Amino acid sequence: MSAFAQETLVGDFSDLKPPLSEEEALIEADRCLRCGGVYATAPCTVACPADVDVPTFVAQVAAGDTGAAALKIFEQNILGASCARVCQVEELCEASCVMNSQDETPIEIARLQRFATDWAYANGIAPRKNAAANGHKVAVIGAGPAGLACAGELAARGYAVTVYDERAEAGGLIRYAIAPFRQQSEPLPDEQKAIEKLGVEIKLGVKIDTKEALAEIEKEAEAVFLGVGLGEDVDVKTPGDDLEGVWESLPFIEALKDGNPPEIGRRAAVIGGGNTAMDVAREALRLGAEVTVLYRRTQAQMPAFYHEYEQALDEGVVFNWLTLPVAFKGENGRLKSVECQPMKLGEPDDSGRRRPEPIEGADFDLPVDTIIKAIGQRPREEFLSLIDGLELEWGQIKINPETGQTTNPKYFAAGDAINGGATVVSAVGGAKVAVAGIEAFLQGEKR
Ligand SMILES: Cc1cc2nc3c(=O)[nH]c(=O)nc-3n(C[C@H](O)[C@H](O)[C@H](O)COP(=O)(O)OP(=O)(O)OC[C@H]3O[C@@H](n4cnc5c(N)ncnc54)[C@H](O)[C@@H]3O)c2cc1C
Repeated sequence: MSAFAQETLVGDFSDLKPPLSEEEALIEADRCLRCGGVYATAPCTVACPADVDVPTFVAQVAAGDTGAAALKIFEQNILGASCARVCQVEELCEASCVMNSQDETPIEIARLQRFATDWAYANGIAPRKNAAANGHKVAVIGAGPAGLACAGELAARGYAVTVYDERAEAGGLIRYAIAPFRQQSEPLPDEQKAIEKLGVEIKLGVKIDTKEALAEIEKEAEAVFLGVGLGEDVDVKTPGDDLEGVWESLPFIEALKDGNPPEIGRRAAVIGGGNTAMDVAREALRLGAEVTVLYRRTQAQMPAFYHEYEQALDEGVVFNWLTLPVAFKGENGRLKSVECQPMKLGEPDDSGRRRPEPIEGADFDLPVDTIIKAIGQRPREEFLSLIDGLELEWGQIKINPETGQTTNPKYFAAGDAINGGATVVSAVGGAKVAVAGIEAFLQGEKR
């Protein structure tokens, strides 16, 4: 990308995938080959963790039946409108589109899904019908995508559901962490309202962090769903952490999404090689900085999706491979540079990846005004340890993958808390499994 093109990004937090007009949607939907049928599910549907019937909804859009298309999406994914914006379709449905094998661009499934679901909310179409109460009560801890999807699906089946979340607004990481150029907040408020209309009570600003609070919930509810996600950024201590200009990724993004964009100066460095690092780098670019990503391994080993890396590169982010930041240096309490340790790859470690090893005596200082650490999130082990009999593995809640049930039979779980951090649509998919598990548990079915 030219320096001019890069400059045009400054201040531009508009949608990476803008909405389609009606005409564009009809033309795009008409390209779909309608794969799949009674003998084989279409590859795009197979690739969707929420099992959305893509060929059917796309055909409904093409036929001008947008409301039916939206209901087809909602049937499988009550958060279909948010997923249309944030889904990593380049790795999921659109990657599986047969158009790719014809050397054609894949059908723009996400934008068609957005077209249909936005239309539904604009025209007062509810994702689910209200059901008669069945007398059972379920509590949900966490109003992120896992918690909201679980609550909505249960309420649509007649369960009385109360959701608790410590934050002031619902949506979890969609609201507070997902890049604003994917989704600022809308259509979360519509989704929340629709779920509340089904009878779900969402109690915000309520942190469940004591045994007493859990006992209270257990007394009220016959089953509890844990959609608590992960916690704060991984705490990697570096000398100079307290300098002004040193950020952790989640507070940085939250400030940006709350309309208080951090002052980041001319040169920013981002530490990490995951999807969060790619997002933060592209956000810093839009705040006007020249951005360098510092990653201690090489491109081949970075955990970020390749398309995320490519897009960051294309927008002008610079990558310093095999570079470990070892100290932040400043003047008068303000960050001035980062001391970097060049690395080389040694023998494979436990993860099978070659271990980075320092090249002694090769340290250098990189002048920076801002550092953003994007190394990952910590599991919520302290909270989870309050729940009797709940087993964890590497900080992740152990579940039966067929039912979402944890090792404490009353508790079910899905989302980042069980998978260590994945995607919104996988949180929705996991919540659906847990809903079926909770139903079977409460209705006494043997599975
Ligand atoms: C920077 C970043 C960017 C991302 N970008 C994308 C993307 O573009 N596309 C995508 O699909 N995925 C993305 N993800 C991943 C995605 O956001 C998560 O996989 C998804 O939000 C997980 O949903 P969840 O409901 O399990 O957890 P969360 O979204 O974390 O929600 C958990 C909720 O539980 C609440 N909670 C936790 N503990 C308690 C407690 N003790 N009491 C009360 N409330 C509690 C929290 O306040 C929170 O609201 C991104 C993640 C990050 C960090």
